[in-house]
Amino acid sequence: TDPARIRNFCIIAHIDHGKSTLADRMLQLTEVVDPRQMRAQYLDRMDIERERGITIKSQAVRMPWTIRAGERAGEQAVLNMIDTPGHVDFTYEVSRSLAACEGAVLLVDAAQGIEAQTLANLYLALENDLHIIPVLNKIDLPAAQPEKYAEELAHLIGGQPEDCLRVSGKTGEGVAHLLDEIVRQFTPPVGEADAPARAMIFDSVYDIYRGVVTYVRVIDGKIEARDRIKMMSTGAAHELLEIGVISPEMVKSPGLGVGEVGYLITGVKDVRQSRVGDTITINGRPATEALGGYKDPKPMVYSGLYPIDGSDYPALRDALDKLKLNDAALTYEPETSAALGFGFRCGFLGLLHLEIIGERLEREFGLDLISTAPNVVYRVIMDDGSEITVTNPSEFPAGKVAEVYEPVVRATVLTPNDYVGAVMELCQGRRGSLLGMDYLSTDRVELRYTLPLAEIIFDFFDQLKSRTKGYASLDYEPSGEQKADLVKVDILLHGEPVDAFSAIVHKDKAYNYGVNIASKLQKLIPRQQFEVPIQAAIGSRVIARETIRAIRKDVLAKCYGGDITRKRKLLEKQKEGKKRMKMVGRVEVPQEAFIAALSTS
Ligand code: GDP
Ligand code: MG
Repeated sequence: TDPARIRNFCIIAHIDHGKSTLADRMLQLTEVVDPRQMRAQYLDRMDIERERGITIKSQAVRMPWTIRAGERAGEQAVLNMIDTPGHVDFTYEVSRSLAACEGAVLLVDAAQGIEAQTLANLYLALENDLHIIPVLNKIDLPAAQPEKYAEELAHLIGGQPEDCLRVSGKTGEGVAHLLDEIVRQFTPPVGEADAPARAMIFDSVYDIYRGVVTYVRVIDGKIEARDRIKMMSTGAAHELLEIGVISPEMVKSPGLGVGEVGYLITGVKDVRQSRVGDTITINGRPATEALGGYKDPKPMVYSGLYPIDGSDYPALRDALDKLKLNDAALTYEPETSAALGFGFRCGFLGLLHLEIIGERLEREFGLDLISTAPNVVYRVIMDDGSEITVTNPSEFPAGKVAEVYEPVVRATVLTPNDYVGAVMELCQGRRGSLLGMDYLSTDRVELRYTLPLAEIIFDFFDQLKSRTKGYASLDYEPSGEQKADLVKVDILLHGEPVDAFSAIVHKDKAYNYGVNIASKLQKLIPRQQFEVPIQAAIGSRVIARETIRAIRKDVLAKCYGGDITRKRKLLEKQKEGKKRMKMVGRVEVPQEAFIAALSTS
C-alpha cells in the first residue's frame, strides 16, 4: 500500500466513554465485519473483557475507507485502527499503541465530560506527537451536554469548541463524518522505504493454535514473508511462518511496508520472546539502531496465591505457566506459608492486573484460591550499606535497617468542586502531598498528588468513589520512590509468627493494623485447650494483644452413658474437622479463619 493512503490512529478515552462501541460502528461502516457476524464490542476478544466491558489487550484492525463528503469525496484510504486498553495498569501498552499511530481520536462521553483517564491518555498522545481529533460521544443521551463539554475540551487542547465532532457510537450518527475527518486531518506515515527494516511491536498475544502472534507497525523498510527476522533487544533470530493484516481476522499478505500495521507469526511459544516495545529487523540486513522506548515490564504489586485445597497446587502451577505465555508482565515463584501451605508469590502491574489473573485462574482453570493482601516492592538499605529488595513482607529484615524506600505514584483526581475537601482529606490520610490543583471549568477540579503506591492499592479507589458519590475519577503513574518510616508488623499466635499476616506499614499506622488483625483473629479462631495469646509486634516489641481463652473441648463428655457407636461417630467427626486445620506452633487454626481474616482485611 502507498504510505500516502495510510492513516494509523487510535481511539483514546476514559473507561466506559464508548471506545469499543464506536470501534464497532467503524467496523460496520467500513464493511470490514459482515453484519451477520457483528456482535457488540467485536474487538474485546477475551471473555473477561466482554463481561466487564473493558478492553485489556490492544487490537489492530485494517479498514478501507473512501471519503464520502466534501471536496475530497471519492479519495480512497486504508485506516489502521488500534484499540488501546484504557486502564492505568496498562499505561505502558497504551503508550506503545500510541507510538504506532499518527493520530488519536480523543473520545469523551457527552454526558460525563473529561475524566482522569481522558487526561492521562491525552498527555500520552501529546508526548507521542499525535494529532488529536476531539470527539463527543453518546449525543443520543438525553443527559448529553455537548455544548458545555465542547468548551471544556477546546479549553484543554486548544482550538475552538466547533472543532469538536459529535457522534453516537450507539446510533451511528456522525461516525461516517468522523472517518472522513480521520483521512483529512491525520497525516500519513513517513518512513524510509529503502532503509533496513524496522518495525515496532505494540502487542504480542499467545494463541493456542498458532503460538505467539505479534502485532507490529513498520516504520522503515519492508518485512516479507520469506524473511528471517531479528529481535533487536535480544538479538534472537526467528523464521517467519506467516505475515499479514487483520481485517478483522488474520489475512495473509506477501509483506508489510512503510507505515503498515499487521501481524507476524514465528512459532515462538512465549510472549517474552516477542516483547511489546521491542524493534524487529531483518536478520540478513539488520538496522543498526532500535526504535526508542523499549521497557521491560516491571511488577509493581505482589500477592501470594494459594490453592484452598492443597492438592490443587500442581494445577495452579500449570495454570500460571499457561497464563504467562500470554502475559510478559506476570511473574511468580513458589512460596510456602505456615498458615496457607504451598503457593506462589506473584508479581503484577497493578491491582486490576491482579484481579484479572485471579479471576482467570478461578474461571478458566477452575481453581479455588486465597490471596494474601497485596503489597508493593520495598528497597531496604541495611546498616552495613548492603541493599535488599523485599517483595514479601515476611522477608523484611528484623533489625539493622538503615533506610527503607517505597514506590510512589503521581496521581490525578478529577472531581466536582463540592468534593474537593473530601478528596484532600482522603489523600492526606494516605500520606499524599499536593502537587497542584486546576479548575477545568467552574465546577470541575483537577488535583495532582504524590502518593505512596502502597496507600493506593489498599482500598483507595473505593474510598474515593464513596466519598464523592462516584463522581471522582483517578489515574496514576509510577513516579520513583521515597524514603519512608516503615516498619514490619508481625502477628504472633501463641508466640509463633503467622507469615500471611505480616505487613509493612507506616510507623503511625502500625498500631491500628495490629489491633485490627488481632481482634479479627480473636473472633475467628476457636478456643483451644490452653490459653492462646494473639500479639502484634514490631520486632520484639508487642504493640497489641488479644487472648483466646482456654476451653476443655472434651466431646465425649457430651455422651451420657455408653452408646459406643455414637461416641465413635463423634470421634470420626472430630478427625474430619482436623484435616482442614493448620497448625501454627501448638495452635490448631481452621483454614477458614485465615481466609476470613485475609478476605475482609
Ligand atoms: P469503553 O470502555 O470506552 O470501550 O466503552 P464501551 O464501548 O464498552 O461502552 C460503555 C457503555 O456505554 C456501554 O454500556 C455502551 O453500550 C454505552 N455506549 C457506548 N456508546 C454509546 C452511545 O453513543 N450512546 C449511548 N446511549 N450509550 C453508549
Ligand atoms: Mg472497551
